[in-house]
Amino acid sequence: MIIVLIGPPGAGKGTQASRLAHTLNVPHVASGDLLRAVSVQDTPLGQQVKSYMVAGQLVPDDLALRIVEERLAQSDAANGVVLDGFPRTLQQAHRLDDVLAGDGRRGVDVAIYIEAAREIVLERMRARRRDDETPEVQVKRYDVYEHDTLPLVAYYRDRVTASIDGEQPIDAVTRDIATTVRAHSVGGGNSAGADAFKPAATAVQAHE
Ligand code: ADP
Repeated sequence: MIIVLIGPPGAGKGTQASRLAHTLNVPHVASGDLLRAVSVQDTPLGQQVKSYMVAGQLVPDDLALRIVEERLAQSDAANGVVLDGFPRTLQQAHRLDDVLAGDGRRGVDVAIYIEAAREIVLERMRARRRDDETPEVQVKRYDVYEHDTLPLVAYYRDRVTASIDGEQPIDAVTRDIATTVRAHSVGGGNSAGADAFKPAATAVQAHE
């Protein structure tokens, strides 16, 4: 299964992507982590990537795509991945579809939109501020999200797109995401990872 998580910075995508990947037993592919690894290299490319990241801007689509594509080509990603932070622009989403089709793979199975209001995520970002990140950069990152990434929700609408309330406590968000992915897995037949949710379904029902 190829699952894409979309949401503003501060919505908790990283935590949720990591939990979901663990449940499905597929890799959690976070473009921000892959790019951070490049940015610490003392090379022209590393310096270039770093300059975009510290400014709160996106790195160019070609570069983001190349780095994620390399990761998807590794054998552990053959059964699926949880993508976190990629795609982040419409151009990246189109190109991801092309790459997957070119490899003879199914496209994105589920897109999950973790929704949280601007003021809420800016407050969360302020609370967990990294030393290298000014309040201006945080606002910039939010604005870039709204302008470049939010249109992906419409792009994926004709596939499965669930909106999850990201203002809830972390475990409630995890539960809602699981419910969405499970619903899709049941309908979707034999996709890898689908079985992972069978025990979880029982557990969730038992609590309710
Ligand atoms: P967060 O989870 O805090 O929102 P990420 O770790 O996903 O941030 O990304 C950090 C930075 O890495 C972004 O602000 C951007 O500069 C760069 N980046 C990550 N993913 C992409 C992408 N798909 N396209 C372009 N730039 C990206």
